[in-house]
Amino acid sequence: METYRHNLTSCPQCRHELDAATKVTGNAGGPDPGDLTVCLNCGTILQFTPALALERASRETLSDFLQKEPNNFIMLMRAKKGIDYINRQRARMRHTWN
Ligand SMILES: [Zn+2]
Repeated sequence: METYRHNLTSCPQCRHELDAATKVTGNAGGPDPGDLTVCLNCGTILQFTPALALERASRETLSDFLQKEPNNFIMLMRAKKGIDYINRQRARMRHTWN
């Protein structure tokens, strides 16, 4: 897996600034319009726009992705679950120590 730098953009859900993406499947090279990714900060599933900004992936997009690429859909969900797990642990630590 290779990580590619892209123009600075922010997650539309949490406003975390993102400037890199790691390609898990597909052709070599940076992200293409329509590619899906996960915000490392909040776990929201995002999609690269034609200008390579990020927007929330729609239900239709995710449904199509599940139909066409079920194995890659599972990988995407695993990445999201991993980030969600880390965020739950962080929240628990804050609760424990504050
Ligand atoms: Zn986010």
